[in-house]
This record gives sequence, structure tokens and C-alpha cells, in this order.
Amino acid sequence: MPSTMPIQRPSHKKKERAQTDLFRAQMLAWYDAHARVLPWRVKPGFTANPYHVWLSEVMLQQTTVQAVIPYFGKFVDKWLTVHDLATAPSEEVMTAWAGLGYYARARNLHKCAQVVSRENKGKFPNSLEELKKLPGIGDYTAAAIAAIAFDLPATVIDGNVDRVISRYFAVTDPLPGSKPEIRALAAGLAEGRTDRPGDFAQSMMDLGATICIPKTPRCDLCPVRDGCAGRAQGIAAELPAKAPKKAQPQRWGLIYWITNQDGDAVLLERRPETGMLGGMVGLPTTQWLDRPVIKGRKKPDITDYVADRYPGLERMQDNPGTIRHTFTHFDLDLVGVACRAEKNFSLDVGQFWHPLVDIADIGFPTLFKKFVNLCILK
Ligand code: SF4
Repeated sequence: MPSTMPIQRPSHKKKERAQTDLFRAQMLAWYDAHARVLPWRVKPGFTANPYHVWLSEVMLQQTTVQAVIPYFGKFVDKWLTVHDLATAPSEEVMTAWAGLGYYARARNLHKCAQVVSRENKGKFPNSLEELKKLPGIGDYTAAAIAAIAFDLPATVIDGNVDRVISRYFAVTDPLPGSKPEIRALAAGLAEGRTDRPGDFAQSMMDLGATICIPKTPRCDLCPVRDGCAGRAQGIAAELPAKAPKKAQPQRWGLIYWITNQDGDAVLLERRPETGMLGGMVGLPTTQWLDRPVIKGRKKPDITDYVADRYPGLERMQDNPGTIRHTFTHFDLDLVGVACRAEKNFSLDVGQFWHPLVDIADIGFPTLFKKFVNLCILK
């Protein structure tokens, strides 16, 4: 008997679903062939170690893959499991982190390891909500761990994914204002999809890192080029649009290279736990002020400033140079002061003498490393 039902045109929703299916299939097939080999990764189709995923994702916040690789290796060699990391002395963790920047991450990393070890018997929770309750785990990191370590259909958006989505859907509003739109579009590709969520998330990151790269996207090699609106409109290279950056505030201060009476040790200090570079070993500095400490001279006369801060220093002083460092929210100029301690020089809390001979082996944050190099090479 012939059917009396009219032939259904595909609904808008069905069309969207079919497009998403195709996008995901193209991305996963590309990932199977071209996934980046990274030390914290497992092969496509396998489930990763949550400890490795968490460690790598925290390290990758604001930091490049190339910078993270040696640190990741150092951490997992030293601390095989999250229990090992949890029981390590915090100074050791901070020293191992030195040079990777954004030191609050290291403090939170250690706290998080302690919570997971103590309260969860070493197991990372496998839900977004529970992950977000852990120290140092925000929306992005929770989504990345949920997807990569537990294969949950979470929406993972890093800078690479921002770029892929902006271009594929031709989002022309500038970042950061376009973030909600990008998030909604990315969620449409990921949420509710249980076919290899972790691999899909990583395929998006990898596409952004290797093919859909800044400035010159390599569209000819892209698995989703046929559906890409940015490419079709010839605007891919200009996306994502970005709002003009505001000028960074500037701060100034002094940094000291103080040697002991014998000239064979340098004064170092462990910085207070809270504040910039908290818990790290560094050289003493003045406060970082929003106005120049020393104005209007080519070779600064720093005697008065030094006398104020450290009365127990010999007057004979030298200026090894100025170091510049850029933090996320300000630029810093520190004028160097090299001088020797008098016999009666007394140490402040957290200060200690360190032998000059192995000063280069100390795990300094980059800011201090720059100054140490300046003083050693001088
Ligand atoms: S076609 Fe080009 S612009 Fe579009 S997603 Fe692929 S690499 Fe990016």
C-alpha cells in the first residue's frame, strides 16, 4: 500500500546535526593521522592518566607547549604519583617550578595534590563540578581534564580553539567581547556528544596549534576547509579580531646584589607566600612602585636609596644595569645595585647567604635569573 505520509524536508535542527556530525568525523579522522605526540598524551582512542592530564593542563595555562615539556618531564620523574607530589616539601615544588612563571599556579598545584591525595585517595573527581572545587582548577582546566582524562563531553576552549571557531564560523566581533558567542558555537560541537570527547577536544587544540595557526592559516591542509566560513569569505587570516590592547602600567624599583664580607656568598631571600612570585627564592628588591625610584640621571646615584633600605651596606656601590620584565598586568624596571655587606649587617626574615660558586644552579624565576646573569657576566 502506498504511504500517505508526505516526504519530510530535513528540519533546520537535523541539518545542523548532520553538519556537526560531519565536522566531528573530519576532525577525528584528521586527529587519528596527525595528533601531536606529547609526553602527557596517550594514543588516539586510549584514556590518559588523570594525574598527567591535570599536571600538563595547569602548566599549559598561559605557557607554550615547548616551555612546558621539560618541566612536565621533571615533575613526573621526581613525583611519580599525585601522592608523591602531595608529600613533597613546598620549597622543592616551588624550586622545580622556577622559570615557568605564574607562581600562584605552583602553590595551587601543590595544594590541589594534597586535597586529591588526602580527601580523594589520589583519584581526581570525574565531574566538572567536583573538579572546579579543587585549588587552581577553573572552567578551562576542569573542562580539559573532564574531556581528556574521563572522556566527558565538555567544551574545552583555549586560545587555539578560539581561533579555529572564530574562523570556521566567521565570528567578526573582536575578542574578548565575542567569547560568549565562541563558547556557544564550541558547545554546539561538543556538548552531548559521547563519541570520543577527549580526542575531539584535543583535535581542536591541535588544529589550532599546527594548521589553523595565527596570521597564516594553512587552509589547504585543513580537514574542515570545505565548511569554513572564514576561508570562504577570505577573512580567515584576520580572525579572531581583537580589541586594541590598553597600554600596560609600568612599575619601578631597585634590585640588590649584596655579597658578604669575604665576597664568596650572595644574599638571597625566600619571598613571602602571598604576593608576586610568592614562595620563590630571589634577590632582595625594594617595593615595586608606580613611579621611577631614581629619576633623570644616566648613571643613577643610588647611595641614598640603598642606605635607606640597608643601613649595613658599605658605601662602595656599583650599578650592574637595569632589568626589564613583563608580567601579565604590568611592566617592571628594576635598577640593579651591587654592594658589599658590612660586618654588622643583619639578615631580614627569610634571608640567607648562598655560595656564589653555585648561584647559577638555583631555580630562580626569570626576573631574578636575568639579574643574576647580568651580575655574573659583568
Ligand atoms: S579552513 Fe583555514 S581558517 Fe578555516 S578552520 Fe581550517 S585552517 Fe582555519
